[in-house]
This record gives sequence, C-alpha cells and structure tokens, in this order.
Amino acid sequence: MENDLTLDWLSISGYEKVLYFKQPSVQLEGYIAIHSTKRGPALGGTRFWPYSSQDDALTDVLRLAQGMSYKAAGAELPLGGGKAVLIGHPNQLKSPAYFHAYAHVVNLFQGTYITAEDMNIGTEDIRLIAEKTVHVVGRTDKSGNPSPWTALGVFHGVLATCEVAYPTRDVSSLSFGIQGVGETGFHFLQLLVDHGVKHITIADINPEKITRVQTRFPFVKVVDDHTLLSLPVDVLCPCAFGGILNAHTLPTIQAKAIAGSANNIFLDLEKDPHRFHEAGILVAPDYIINAGGLINVFHEVINDLDPQRSKAEVVKIGDRLRRLYQDVAAKHVNPFTLSLSTIQKTF
Ligand code: NAD
Repeated sequence: MENDLTLDWLSISGYEKVLYFKQPSVQLEGYIAIHSTKRGPALGGTRFWPYSSQDDALTDVLRLAQGMSYKAAGAELPLGGGKAVLIGHPNQLKSPAYFHAYAHVVNLFQGTYITAEDMNIGTEDIRLIAEKTVHVVGRTDKSGNPSPWTALGVFHGVLATCEVAYPTRDVSSLSFGIQGVGETGFHFLQLLVDHGVKHITIADINPEKITRVQTRFPFVKVVDDHTLLSLPVDVLCPCAFGGILNAHTLPTIQAKAIAGSANNIFLDLEKDPHRFHEAGILVAPDYIINAGGLINVFHEVINDLDPQRSKAEVVKIGDRLRRLYQDVAAKHVNPFTLSLSTIQKTF
C-alpha cells in the first residue's frame, strides 16, 4: 500500500490531542480527539459518517470525545475520553486496506486512545482494525458488540426515568417514540417489547432498518424522522444523532420523559438542559444512561470477560439515575448541570 498518509496535529483548548489524518490511496480521512487521559486511557468508538464538511466532522469528534470523558467518569471507570470520526460514505469506502490504514493511525497514540464500535462501525470492521492494532475493544472474540449492553443500560435508565416522570414502574402502559433503530435502537426496542410495551413508533432514515423492525414487530408504527420528535408519546428515545434537543425542537416536543442511547442530545449543553427542565420534561443525561457498552468493553480492557459481572454493573445505571433524580428534586437543578458539577471535578 502506498504510504501517502498526512497528519495534522491541531492545538485545541480543552483537549489533550486532536489529530486530522488523510490517506488518499485508500480514501481514508478523519479525526481522532483525546479530551482527557487523567482518569486512564481515552476509550471511545469510531464513527463513520458522510459529514458535509471537515468542520462538521471536527465539531462532532470534539463533542463526542468530551462526552466520553463524562461517560467514563459518570460510570466511575478508570478511563479517559476520546473518540474518532471517519469522513465519507461507509458503504463505498470500507475495505481491509482502509481499516488497516486506520489502525496504523490509532497506533500513533500508543495506547492512550483505544477505539471500538460506533455509528456505521460494526464488529467485522473492528475485526479488520484488530489485525493491525491491539488498541481496540468490542472484538467478536472478546467482549463483542457493545450495542446490546448499551441498550440494556438505556432500558434500565428508562425504567428509572419513568418512575419519576409519570410515575410508574410499569412501562407496558406507556407509549414510546424511538428515533433511530440501528444497533442500539433495535436492541432497546426488543427489550421494550419483551417487557410488554405495545405502543411504539419509530423513525429511521435507512429503509432497511425500518424493514427489519416491521418484519420482526409488525405492530410497531413508522413515521418520518421530522414527525417523530413531536409525536404525542409518553417517552421519547433518541437513538440516532445528537443535538436534537434544542430551543427550536423544545416547543414541538410532547413527551414528558426523554431517554435514549444517542450521545450529546442537547445542542447547547449550557442552556438547553435548563430550558427542558423549566418546561417540565425529564431528560436522562446521555453520558449516564448510555454507558452500558463502555462498562462492558471496560471488562475487555481489564481482561475480565464475565458477562454476569458486566450485566450487574450495567443494570446499576438505573440506580445511578434514581439517585440523581432524588438530588434533582431536592436541589431544584436540572439533571445535567447537577451531575456534571460532580463529574467534571474528577478529570
Ligand atoms: P447505528 O448507526 O447502528 O444506528 C443509528 C440509526 O439511526 C441508523 O439506523 C440510522 O439510519 C439512524 N438515523 C440517523 N439519522 C437519523 C435521523 N435523523 N432520524 C432517524 N434515524 C436516523 O448507531 P448506534 O450504535 O445505534 O448508535 C446510536 C447512537 O447511540 C449514537 O449517537 C451513538 O453515538 C450512541 N451510542 C452508541 C453506543 C453503542 O454501543 N453502539 C454506545 C453509546 C452511545
């Protein structure tokens, strides 16, 4: 393979390392951002997305890397926060040479960045990356795809959120709207169905993902992604992109509880959590509720692949949120501001 890799180390305030990389011979282009390694190596998945510009990709990787620091600290894991984004159309660019070249870039961080799955990066891609670097988790021969674990944590977080927002312990009586039924959204939907939920509406921009749901669960309703946020449902579950909760979408949202797998759900982390709290909508902090996959892959890092132990740790996400919501009620502060005030002291 031609070695035409170019690197540009960027200096960005608040981040330890940010790297832009490009290798035209395999059409590889992307960023790796390390927000913090104070708690431990920065672990965070690789997202593959057709970003419309380099700036969009950079903004995403910075927000995601910071979110991983929050997530590791929120889950009390000795890990830091980092993330990678690959720019382009996954279906057109994926190849063994592409992922081997990417693994070489991961190796430049000498273990201070550990990668894993994220949007459009699956276990087969991770297998290829693992052929050229040891700094990768979520391998099929180890802890596997983190998404079912993330979904399990989201499900327990949803239970805790509904106990406060409605309040009920019986989610089967509630209606749900799920934005995105990919890896995490689909497994989460399965858990809802397993627990007797009958009123579920979904949206996804990928028709194949919708067909998969309709084939398995014919009773699930489908709407377009613009309609989903404003549906009259009890619980809104963002399981696709971040930034969807903002001043523009707030007036259209009817759900009293919002809890899902998507990272960085608020567009403006300073102002939006307060806005939603004032509007009486309980929003589960994404970096707490979606930590299940991180908790499970952490067991791969420490070489303890005990699924029972992982499951017990992931289920604790529900209790972590219950404690947070009790504090929220006592202190009259929104859940994000309150939890971040503790988390940010730890890195
Ligand atoms: P995925 O790519 O498997 O699924 C995302 C789905 O969302 C896809 O089916 C996609 O078509 C759909 N989608 C994208 N834009 C949409 C839109 N505007 N409206 C409706 N659907 C849309 O990804 P995933 O692994 O399920 O991750 C989903 C979210 O959860 C991401 O924000 C990710 O960062 C976060 N997350 C994932 C994990 C994990 O273990 N996979 C862990 C923590 C957080």
